Amino acid sequence: MKIVTVVGARPQFIKASALSRELLKSPDMEEVIIHTGQHFDSNMSDVFFEEMEIPAPKYQLDIHSLSHGAMTGRMMEEIEKVLLYERPDVVLVYGDTNSTLAGALAACKLNLKVAHVEAGLRSFNLKMPEEINRILTDRISDLLFCPTEEAVSNLNAEGFGQFQSKVVLSGDIMLDAALYYRNKADTESRILEKHDLKKNHYVLATIHRQENTDDHARLQSIIDALNELNQKTRVVVPLHPRTRNIIHDSQILTDFTIIEPVGYFDMISLISNATLIMTDSGGLQKEAYFFGKYCITLRDQTEWVELVKGGYNTLTGSDKIKILKAFDEYSVKKLSFDKPLYGDGHAAKIILVSLQEIM
Ligand code: UDP
Repeated sequence: MKIVTVVGARPQFIKASALSRELLKSPDMEEVIIHTGQHFDSNMSDVFFEEMEIPAPKYQLDIHSLSHGAMTGRMMEEIEKVLLYERPDVVLVYGDTNSTLAGALAACKLNLKVAHVEAGLRSFNLKMPEEINRILTDRISDLLFCPTEEAVSNLNAEGFGQFQSKVVLSGDIMLDAALYYRNKADTESRILEKHDLKKNHYVLATIHRQENTDDHARLQSIIDALNELNQKTRVVVPLHPRTRNIIHDSQILTDFTIIEPVGYFDMISLISNATLIMTDSGGLQKEAYFFGKYCITLRDQTEWVELVKGGYNTLTGSDKIKILKAFDEYSVKKLSFDKPLYGDGHAAKIILVSLQEIM
């Protein structure tokens, strides 16, 4: 069985690492990787392939730094050429980026089977490019691997029970990756020493969602909150290149520790030793839970509603007062992070079996 995997953005490399490892163990499976080039800086791409031992992409499309339509269109065109040549049995896509949608659309129009890992998530905010990508990718996928029960319910509510596609509750493949790499992170990461960070004495924050970066008032308000918080406790931000450029261009003043984006081992170390996490990332909200950390989410909605329901995550949006209040209230929270909200860390195995069954 031949699988073509389409990846292009940082979280997709992390998700794909877990399944690629499982595919390599199966003699009946061949995986060919296409890297669209959506993320191209070495600290946003190469570092993950190297340290997570992800097989090298056979195709590098080098498509990036374009508007959404141009990027998705060009990716489709190039992916189609590869698919016509490789003729895979299944095309595998991850998450919710333009690379996800381009891969799924190119495959579907060639009547190839599409498998979507991280299906069924919804923020119910159609202004998010990710939400559009998810809804469309889900609708044209044959196999939909859901990380949570909520994701399965979302698909049922959209009528997926009546479609030809198969919905599988696989659990979250990011948990597979986190469990597999956490020991390596412990032994190999030196990031705390490098930035003189003390265990449980800093807040780890990330900001990169378009709704925050492309809205000056929102970005300013989040940065003001982090600046103020940094007076009380150290705030460390591995800054996404897009956010860095916007902060630079709009001359917003920052007064906290900004570092370059880090590899996955360093990231696990930063998460697991932080007091708490502040983020607008999707993946990081869950990783906070995996490593027993409370998360303040700098968004108005989240796809990971089970975290909010369980009290592990507070949505503050970009409101400075709410962000600072959530930080102050955190110290009185007593949380145990022991519910299997995201499965048991064997999502890749479940996905592999389902892929074998459809042939
Ligand atoms: N991440 C990383 N280094 C960083 C920032 C994030 O390895 O400097 C990881 C993070 O731990 C998570 C993934 O990248 O596994 C999340 O990616 P991102 O926040 O870019 O995307 P999202 O999850 O919001 O789609």
